[in-house]
Amino acid sequence: MYIFDDGHTAAWFGLSSRGNEVLNYGGYRYHRASGPRNASQKLRWICIKQKHLPVFTLSRFGKPVIQMGKYRFNKYCKSKGPKARWTCVRIAQGCGATITTLEEMIVKMNNNHNHI
Ligand SMILES: [Zn+2]
Repeated sequence: MYIFDDGHTAAWFGLSSRGNEVLNYGGYRYHRASGPRNASQKLRWICIKQKHLPVFTLSRFGKPVIQMGKYRFNKYCKSKGPKARWTCVRIAQGCGATITTLEEMIVKMNNNHNHI
């Protein structure tokens, strides 16, 4: 079992009762996406409850957003290159939830919101 902590949300890897690898993060459980690994050996993790699957979409203003369940993240405007930072739309209200992506893959997530 491997444990890491990004300062906000502890995550740990474990095995399900069927012996499959699972990732526990922010109170949610993810299982590994099926299919072959890509060349860079990155793994995709899919939430066991699909409604928590982050969705890359566009806002009604045509700006890129990530919809994560009931929460929405705007792309940080100064993000350049394959790595991008996304902040909760309620950042002005003091919410510190952020997502970091690398080529449409989430590599870091702080999904702790100060609002419902
Ligand atoms: Zn928030």
